[in-house]
Amino acid sequence: MELRLQREELLRRQNFVGGVWTDAADMARYPVTNPATGKVIAEVANSGKADARAATDAASEAAREWRQRLPRERAEILRRWHSLIVENTEDLATLMSMEQGKPMTESRGEVAYGASYVAWFADEAIRIYGDLIPQQQRGKQMWAIKEPVGVVAAITPWNFPLAMIARKIAPALAAGCTVVSKPAEDTPLTALALAMLAQEAGVPAGVLNMLSASRDQGIEAVGDWLADDRVRKITFTGSTAVGKYLARESAGTLKKLSLELGGNAPFIVFDDADLDAAVVGLMAAKFRNGGQTCVCPNRIYVQAGVFDKFAELLVARVSALKVAPATDPQAQIGPMINPKAVAKIARHVDDAVSKGASVLVGGTRLEDLGQNYYAPTVLTNATNDMLITCEETFGPVAPLYRFETEEQAITLANDTPFGLAAYFYTRDMRRAERVSRRLEAGVVGLNEGGVASEAAPFGGVKESGYGREGSKYGLDDYLSIKYVCQGNLD
Ligand code: NAP
Repeated sequence: MELRLQREELLRRQNFVGGVWTDAADMARYPVTNPATGKVIAEVANSGKADARAATDAASEAAREWRQRLPRERAEILRRWHSLIVENTEDLATLMSMEQGKPMTESRGEVAYGASYVAWFADEAIRIYGDLIPQQQRGKQMWAIKEPVGVVAAITPWNFPLAMIARKIAPALAAGCTVVSKPAEDTPLTALALAMLAQEAGVPAGVLNMLSASRDQGIEAVGDWLADDRVRKITFTGSTAVGKYLARESAGTLKKLSLELGGNAPFIVFDDADLDAAVVGLMAAKFRNGGQTCVCPNRIYVQAGVFDKFAELLVARVSALKVAPATDPQAQIGPMINPKAVAKIARHVDDAVSKGASVLVGGTRLEDLGQNYYAPTVLTNATNDMLITCEETFGPVAPLYRFETEEQAITLANDTPFGLAAYFYTRDMRRAERVSRRLEAGVVGLNEGGVASEAAPFGGVKESGYGREGSKYGLDDYLSIKYVCQGNLD
């Protein structure tokens, strides 16, 4: 796909700091490439410590005024930002497909999904209530008020270049916080375009600051935020290993943390399930974004009585998936993000096969299309000792495991340090209630594969992190509670 934007100026190559588009302090740049072709799309600022410091200076300065704004005024600006995101859907989707590789239909869907968080938190901004605590002593009055935590550092992954950042910036701004932000090395362009639309929407200078950086430089830049006591909160989406690192490194200044981390989602199909619905749900949950999603089913447990039938239905659908670059309007699966990702998928499939799994469909790289493509794959006879069971594969591979009893399925599903999403299909309402309660996950899809919604609290348990994004709870992570005790009233 040629980069054809209706508004060429949405392709930003500089950082956005203090309301100004600016080069990295040392003028360094790095290339952003298209994973479908390996071609360079643009050279962007390669930010380091000095740029991070400048962003914190700007955010810290802007925080004084922004937190004093009426919530209604902040809401108005967020609403304008939402409108601009929606108006520029085609350009944002093009940038996303170019730098991330997902098919255009998915990119357009992600623009709408990301924008929905901006609209949601525009509405929530005016509902930040406190409490007047019932009087406990004569002459004393107690209140609890909610205040913005201050400067927030938002760090996001490459798999959802727009939605992950929108669902952090929107609640932060709604709450009255200011933001310094670093998107992933591979996908800074969508984030920078979002920053430009925020500027057009009237977000004041310094309230939102966005830096691009290559991997090594990004660690330096984020390191500066971790050590700076003016940054009061880190909101991070990414791998569990990096989440733990951020928790350790921010301990010195005791920052508030929201960590949306890795998953290893089980997908359970019971004998009494509606098999057609289960296959449709699995296809949506597993193969969206080429399987590169934190909530995508990684382990598919199917009860013995329906195992063969389910496998047959699944293979028919997976065989029909169209793998192609985003330029192809029929594309359903694009390239993986980079060669390292393809190598991990291949390693998982090879390991599974060497330990007794069989390939029902796929199981190969698609080198004719390019170096980053892997065929949609279904494996059968998967077992617990395989890498694919223990680690996130992050690719279009569905391993099937056979189970006999409900107890066994729950034990297998929970046998992981992760706890982000879990799915199960059943027609038995008592089982539905029972299994929903016993699954160790922050998000459960019950007869449903599409769980994402701005109105729902999204987040994990166990090593999938803490904090919730979206819903009426999504603002809590950006607020602190102040208790005021007023005395001598009599
Ligand atoms: P990642 O390697 O943890 O990177 C995430 C972000 O952190 C990127 O911006 C990355 O920059 C940055 N980063 C990496 N190492 C860092 C360090 N030492 N110090 C500071 N920043 C650092 O994760 P990823 O591979 O991009 O994304 C995939 C992971 O995200 C998967 O585990 C997936 O499950 C998880 N995820 C979770 C959710 C959720 O909501 N729970 C949603 C989406 C994805 P670079 O890009 O430059 O490395």
